[in-house]
Amino acid sequence: MTTKEICSTSFDELLEQRGIKRRDFLKLCAGIAATLGLSQTMIPRIAHALEESVIGATSGNLKPALWLELSSCSGCTESFAQSDSPNIATVILELLSLNYSEALCAGAGWSLELAKEQTIDAGGYLLIIEGSLMEGWDGNALVIAEEKGTEIVEHAASHADAIICVGSCSVDGGWQSAYPNPSGAIGIPLYLNNAKAAGRLDYDLPPIVNLPHCPANPEHVAAVVVEYLLLKRFPELTNENKPAMMFSQTIHDNCPRRGHFENGEFVYEFGTEAEVKRFCLYPVGCKGPETKSNCPVVRWNRRNGWCIDSGAPCIGCATTNPRRPGFNWVDMNAPFRSHLRNVAIGDFNIPPAFIAYGVAGALVLGLVIHGFGMKASGRLKGGAPYERERKWDTNHPERAIGPAKAAEKAAEKAAAAKDKDDAKSKDKNKSKKGDSSKKGGGK
Ligand code: SF4
Ligand code: SF4
Repeated sequence: MTTKEICSTSFDELLEQRGIKRRDFLKLCAGIAATLGLSQTMIPRIAHALEESVIGATSGNLKPALWLELSSCSGCTESFAQSDSPNIATVILELLSLNYSEALCAGAGWSLELAKEQTIDAGGYLLIIEGSLMEGWDGNALVIAEEKGTEIVEHAASHADAIICVGSCSVDGGWQSAYPNPSGAIGIPLYLNNAKAAGRLDYDLPPIVNLPHCPANPEHVAAVVVEYLLLKRFPELTNENKPAMMFSQTIHDNCPRRGHFENGEFVYEFGTEAEVKRFCLYPVGCKGPETKSNCPVVRWNRRNGWCIDSGAPCIGCATTNPRRPGFNWVDMNAPFRSHLRNVAIGDFNIPPAFIAYGVAGALVLGLVIHGFGMKASGRLKGGAPYERERKWDTNHPERAIGPAKAAEKAAEKAAAAKDKDDAKSKDKNKSKKGDSSKKGGGK
């Protein structure tokens, strides 16, 4: 449809031409409001703003956007483009001038690369990045149109108004950066921060919003783009730069199987009666208690289903943490069918079994050293002599036999003996005096 055609078309007709019912469009607006944490009273405003933007877009004032696809499986693009009822991609893409996307643009090859260059030169665009970067082999592990991925991102970020990292690979390196990570895959925020710290970038980094998940949830992408375009701001972010409304509560908080968790009703093995009864999946690896995302609320596929609803435990794909170099959600959550997860200590990612063996080893070593000490001090045979004395002294203070008490008792004995001697000599003197007075009285 040309710009002229859009101009002469009402918004409802525009929706109709795209097979979107008005009711579904309002449902989209309600979903955006809910995802952004806005009150339901905002729905008409969002709908009006969308209408205005789409119709007003005919003036040619669409916000330019670049969608870079780096090291990825294209799952995030697919998830976004294939969503329907209403077709989020259609509505959102009417709001943007998507000047570069390998998967979504009709153009290809050098003409598309030229469009990207011209957009970067003009500046003021939204940069959407899907997939991770690869630093391996001096950046040659990822080359697109004869340009290293690292250079593409550094260049594209230079004049961007904002960056949206779509999907867990973009946020923390994802599957590609899982151990042993031979290609040196890395998430976009960490790469750009490192490049800035190393003095390779002569510009201030634009704001970055992280939208993890494997793949990214299309409603999350739509809500963030709409809020940015219509309200000229990003939603409130967590300290991991994820929208707080979407990534503050755990899956476990809103899980429909939570009641079974509380009742101790678990699936211990797939193919059992417990699985048929849809009991809690914690023993078979569910990472819901540690994973913060609103998946149970937003869901996928016309809000029809999501992982746990389909019988699969949550594997924690939203646990990406762009602030922890060297760790990614795959390393942290694998093995996915085990409820134990690796523990990050400093720069090390340590399996729980290793920690358990370490603690047990330290305990055994401590007991052995303690045993040698006991033997050396003679305590193996009922304790050291002074300990026995002390115990007896405590229980019999009047007849204490400890060294201190013995000295005290000796001093007491000596004092008593002296008192006795003094008393004896007093008596002697007395009797002598009596005798002499008797003799005097006879004269
Ligand atoms: S299935 Fe997972 S998220 Fe749901 S209650 Fe069990 S542990 Fe929590
Ligand atoms: S339920 Fe877990 S694995 Fe599934 S999308 Fe949400 S965070 Fe990812």
